[in-house]
Amino acid sequence: MWPTVLIGAVVGIGLWIGVRRYLRYRRRHCPECGLELELLSETADDEHLTDTQKTEEQLGSVDYDIWSCPNCEYTLQLRYRAFFTRYSACPKCKARTKSSSTAILQDATEAMSGRKEITETCVNCSYRKVYTRIIPRRSSD
Ligand SMILES: [Zn+2]
Ligand SMILES: [Zn+2]
Repeated sequence: MWPTVLIGAVVGIGLWIGVRRYLRYRRRHCPECGLELELLSETADDEHLTDTQKTEEQLGSVDYDIWSCPNCEYTLQLRYRAFFTRYSACPKCKARTKSSSTAILQDATEAMSGRKEITETCVNCSYRKVYTRIIPRRSSD
C-alpha cells in the first residue's frame, strides 16, 4: 500500500517543480514593443543588480532573473526566494542576508534551566543583535 503513497508524493513533487520551472521560465513579452524578452545569464545580470542584491545572490538566499528586451531598454526583474537557506530578512537593510548562531552558556539540567546566547548578524549591513534565551529544564522521564 505504501508504494502508491510514495509514487504519489514523487509525482506530486515532480509536478510542483515542473510548474514552478514553467512559471519561472515561460515566455515573456515586452509591454512596449511586444517582442520576446531574453533571460540574461547569471553573469550578465550582475550589472542590473544592486550590491545588496548581488550579496543575496552570492549567499544563495535570493535568486534574481533579469529579462531584457532585445529592441528597447525594457528590463524586467524577478525575485525568487530560496526555500532552504539559513539566511533570513534583516530588520535593518531588509535584505535576506541575516544569519544567526547559537552558543550554549549553560546547559539545562533536571534541576535547573540553562541559558543560550543567540547572535544575529547581517552580511550586508552593520546589523548585530545579541540576546539570551532560557533553555527549559530537562524533564526527568
Ligand atoms: Zn521592447
Ligand atoms: Zn542588514
